[in-house]
Amino acid sequence: MARIVQDRVSEEQFQRDLEKYRSRAIELGATDAEIIATEAIVLDERAQAKCSFPTCKLYNTNANCPPHTMPVREFREVVNRYRNAVFFKVDVTSGSFEDFDRVNKYGVTDIVWKLESEAFYDGYYFATGFGSTGCKGIFCPDTRCSVLDGESCRHPWKARPGMHGVGFDVYRMAAQAGWPLYPVGPSTNPAGIPYMSCFGIVLVY
Ligand code: SF4
Repeated sequence: MARIVQDRVSEEQFQRDLEKYRSRAIELGATDAEIIATEAIVLDERAQAKCSFPTCKLYNTNANCPPHTMPVREFREVVNRYRNAVFFKVDVTSGSFEDFDRVNKYGVTDIVWKLESEAFYDGYYFATGFGSTGCKGIFCPDTRCSVLDGESCRHPWKARPGMHGVGFDVYRMAAQAGWPLYPVGPSTNPAGIPYMSCFGIVLVY
């Protein structure tokens, strides 16, 4: 049952809720999840710039990819208003790029919107999540983004920017969390590395 929104949640309740979201991420399929303070969030303009150098095929095609996402300078101010987030990873161990793509798009997005929604209905009305990739390849691969045509998003409760699209330096954050990470690109031989990781985060409050 949804809780009423309180002026102030006790510290004990807040910590219990964070732990609940962390465990829930694992229940939903995350390989690991951490509660992090927002001081541990690393934002870097270069992460967002990598959407244009080399240019991603989603660049400038939808409202949740650069250059339509919030500038990192502005997003940093938003992040600084939060105290804690749940950061998680899903490792793909099958050695298959198809599995990696599926988890990157659907697996991570599913965890993100469910955690964000649970936190919202617990009264953390600023809860906001970000997944591994922008929404167009997930929800609108064969249609124009309606938002860019001045209409509503077709999937407003699930469509979010990918973490890098707003400037999260996911590589550094993974290293800080103690999660060894292998770079994955077109030249990666998936059979030559133990796993490929996908990431998501929900800023709780
Ligand atoms: S889900 Fe579709 S309509 Fe919504 S922002 Fe993404 S591409 Fe645009």
